[in-house]
Amino acid sequence: MSTDDFIDMRSDTVTKPSEAMRDAARDAEVGDDVYRDDPTVNELERRAAEAVGTEAALYTPSGTMANQIAISVHTEPGQEILLERESHVYRWELAGASALSGLQTRTIDAGDRCVPTAEEVEREVVEEDLHRPGTGLLSLENTHNYRGGVAVPKARLDAAATAAHDAGVPVHLDGARVFNASVALGTSVPSLLEEIDSVTFCLSKGLGAPVGSILAGDEAFIDEARRVRKLFGGGMRQAGMIAAPGLLALENVERLAEDHANAAALAAGLDALPGVSVPEPDTNIVVADTEAAGIEASDLVEACTDAGVGCGEFDTYTTRFTTNLGIDDGDVEDAIDRVGEVVEELSA
Ligand SMILES: *Cc1c(COP(=O)(O)O)cnc(C)c1O
Repeated sequence: MSTDDFIDMRSDTVTKPSEAMRDAARDAEVGDDVYRDDPTVNELERRAAEAVGTEAALYTPSGTMANQIAISVHTEPGQEILLERESHVYRWELAGASALSGLQTRTIDAGDRCVPTAEEVEREVVEEDLHRPGTGLLSLENTHNYRGGVAVPKARLDAAATAAHDAGVPVHLDGARVFNASVALGTSVPSLLEEIDSVTFCLSKGLGAPVGSILAGDEAFIDEARRVRKLFGGGMRQAGMIAAPGLLALENVERLAEDHANAAALAAGLDALPGVSVPEPDTNIVVADTEAAGIEASDLVEACTDAGVGCGEFDTYTTRFTTNLGIDDGDVEDAIDRVGEVVEELSA
């Protein structure tokens, strides 16, 4: 199988920069960003803040770093952070909240709602006293990755955030794919963030940039975040070279609808396979359950990879396929055929 023929849906992080992005990187005006001298980074931070409707923004090497900076700025060591049970911050950031910010984690299982209700937040917020640590932050996620790229509507975010604020607790949104949520819901990002204090989003996922994420919030928050970024080793020098493609990535918001349409077609095609069950996706993440076919995800992923379809193991019987900028409708048809053959073989 030639690498050209490989349909890579392991993630939306696998895209390669376009020719325009490579040109922009080469031609970027640069300076030392730790001195705030890089005009391209400054422009990216200005445009990113504008796109999400905050006063300021900070460019970071990754979404994980952006989340971890936000957590550190909002909290004091010895506090608790309130997290959804299947959130990225809890599952896939190497216990950074405890390792880097000295926090104890408390989780809420929000199920298919993906974001806790106001009542759940009220119940789990801890008020500091001589014995109890106090809740320093509520962190939410939209779209919710592990629960299948669910686009969480504004009302649910607002309710959880308002309950936290009423208890004096700030709210961070891990919006790695918040633009996917916005496009799917038809709600602007600034509107989704109305009750949110800080947000992370990834330039390097559906938007197609090679590197980088954004942390956004008010001026004072971002000033402190800039200090913590340096503390975590994320102060970069002539970073305009990687920020320039990020500026072009901000123009890729509307086309996320194509990824969503491709994901819907893929889900329908896979769901029609015997023993395969796939809920209709909100955005670009398709989660296939192969328990009824008796196929474990690890086996499916291996066989699909051999057959030229990249995907990722999610749980014992669930596998994630993520549409992205490198996947067109023809790839979706081919992928359905290839996965169909794999399922037939593994079921036999
Ligand atoms: C990818 C992702 C992140 C982290 O981004 P990286 O750039 O890979 O560190 C954070 N949260 C969610 C929901 C993600 O999907």
